[in-house]
Amino acid sequence: MDNAFKSVVTERQRQDIKWGEQNHRPMEWMGILGEEFGELCQAVNETHFNNGPEERVKGGYANMRAEAVQVAAVAISFIEALDRRYSAGDPDET
Ligand SMILES: [Mg+2]
Repeated sequence: MDNAFKSVVTERQRQDIKWGEQNHRPMEWMGILGEEFGELCQAVNETHFNNGPEERVKGGYANMRAEAVQVAAVAISFIEALDRRYSAGDPDET
């Protein structure tokens, strides 16, 4: 479990360096997280199905793991943004 958490923390740090603090609205986060989930789906699909050698390189352990780490890191970033946005109080704010 340590390696998985370390990978997610490293990815979160990489995202902060690349984009800075992200304070999107929840609906915007759904697009970002959805994109990452889609990339994970692609990596799993190209591992499972035989779509030819050009697509096959998008699958495999390394790609599936990297995309799963990105999904987890984005989910954590979403949690952090939710905490900043809603911890002050107004639950009706979008
Ligand atoms: Mg990705």
